[in-house]
Amino acid sequence: MTLKDLADIMFPDVTLTVDEIEKRYPERDLEEGAEVTRFAPSPTGFVHMGSLLSAFQDFKLAKDTKGIFYLRIEDTDTLRTVENGISGIISDLANFDIYPDEGMISETESIGNYGPYIQSERKKIYHAYAKYLVEKGLAYPCFCSKESLDETRKIQELNKERIGYYGSYARCRTLSVDEAYEKIKNGEEFVVRFKSMGDFNNKITLNDRMRGKIEFPENDMDIVIIKSNDKLPTYHFAHAIDDHLMHTTTVMRGEEWIPSYPIHHDLFKTLGFKEPLYAHLGLVLKIDENGTRRKLSKRKDPEASVSFYHEKGIPPEATKLYLMTIANSNFEEWFLSNPTGKLTDFKMDFSKMSESGSLFDVEKLFNISKNYISRMTSQELYDKSLPWMEEYDKELFELMKKYSDYTKAIFNIERGGEKPRKDYASFSDIRGGIWYMYDELFKDVNYEYQKVTDIDEIKKILNLYFNEYYDINDDKDTWFSKMKEMTEKLGYASNMKDYKKNPENYKGNVADISTVIRVSITSRSQTPDLYEILKLLGIDRIKTRINMIK
Ligand code: GLU
Repeated sequence: MTLKDLADIMFPDVTLTVDEIEKRYPERDLEEGAEVTRFAPSPTGFVHMGSLLSAFQDFKLAKDTKGIFYLRIEDTDTLRTVENGISGIISDLANFDIYPDEGMISETESIGNYGPYIQSERKKIYHAYAKYLVEKGLAYPCFCSKESLDETRKIQELNKERIGYYGSYARCRTLSVDEAYEKIKNGEEFVVRFKSMGDFNNKITLNDRMRGKIEFPENDMDIVIIKSNDKLPTYHFAHAIDDHLMHTTTVMRGEEWIPSYPIHHDLFKTLGFKEPLYAHLGLVLKIDENGTRRKLSKRKDPEASVSFYHEKGIPPEATKLYLMTIANSNFEEWFLSNPTGKLTDFKMDFSKMSESGSLFDVEKLFNISKNYISRMTSQELYDKSLPWMEEYDKELFELMKKYSDYTKAIFNIERGGEKPRKDYASFSDIRGGIWYMYDELFKDVNYEYQKVTDIDEIKKILNLYFNEYYDINDDKDTWFSKMKEMTEKLGYASNMKDYKKNPENYKGNVADISTVIRVSITSRSQTPDLYEILKLLGIDRIKTRINMIK
């Protein structure tokens, strides 16, 4: 029996050759320096914050370099697969405007020429490479039972030796081709193991793009490359084959993969593949109530789930700005000096990533979002918040649609200019800031009167003001002078300095008067510019509102 016979009986269905496959995945035609990156989740139905950060960084690197970012679904661990688990991932990414250039675009469809982009559909490809390795004597079938492997592990633990399938512990490595062939012919179950030529006493170095040089002993483990039950590849083998064929240039993945690097190095070398560059990303952390750093937890922290941002109505661009601040330590400073700068103007830098993990701070995110929303035009805010309202606040959605110009005019109050008003950290804050501008919502309100609460005094102020002073056509200066004039007439101070010197001489001051007007018209003691609000409401609606006060 030859190795070829053994390979044939191990993979009777494989007809594809490695050469044929290689031809189907030619070099990509990209500009010099263009990076090919991928997001490679299991189809678990959702993306959590840590993976979103890594998907964002993959996406960003590809965009920064005019490269390709693709979505590959890694479903070789069937335990992690859920029904419709791909769509959930795609829609989570889409909520942040992260659209892959290639890869899965729905549960079953994909775009791009380097597919299939779902590992279970690439079985034939993995088998062809595994068969090729067997033919070359670089892989072999292993028949060791779980019990015998457990036994080996116990001995290794007892002897304080390295755990694994290597050296004299790699029992099936020394089976003759005839013996192995016979066992398969007799229907014995087997896995396929890689035959490592490595020596544990040699050193290899990973030049991680973010962590720099990391030294390891060479791999000498005969790791499983094809599993026995479903004949699917292990992560290690699929990683090597896929990232080679799809021409990934930089693999960004969690730091938990660092110890596996020697295996990957061994596989790439043996298969004759060019190794991609690696960046092993740190964890996403948060500071706990008691000041300690801990991993962001899906169970404890609502912000760990990416649906949180969509449900709250944080604009995707704001979340991405935030992700950039935790990805690169120099981004925040850049953004402060370029407050209107776009993410596309900033290039991601591996040397500015934190090895020890990215600290997640929701308050900071809200701040960024507040700034971001404050810089939108009223039209932009209207266009971007409307779909969110349709999903989460139908009532306000209908009003915003019915009174679209009016709504944009409301949004426009104190917007634009150097120091725009920062009211909204998310679209879910909008209702609280504008509801009183719609008569449909201005019912059974709770008036937040402050200093002046006597209803007769309030009525007196309102009647005098709206009957004798207020003129909708006044410009802002005239409007304010008139307000002061009336203030004095009523025995309140129009000048704050005078008031502060001798408060006992006055009933109150001009701020108390404007608060009475503000609260009477809106019910709120804090609103954007009163002059603009009065203008937008118009005198008829103002009068109706005054009549509502009992
Ligand atoms: N499917 C792997 C995981 O979820 C991907 C790791 C990688 O990006 O290579 O951990």
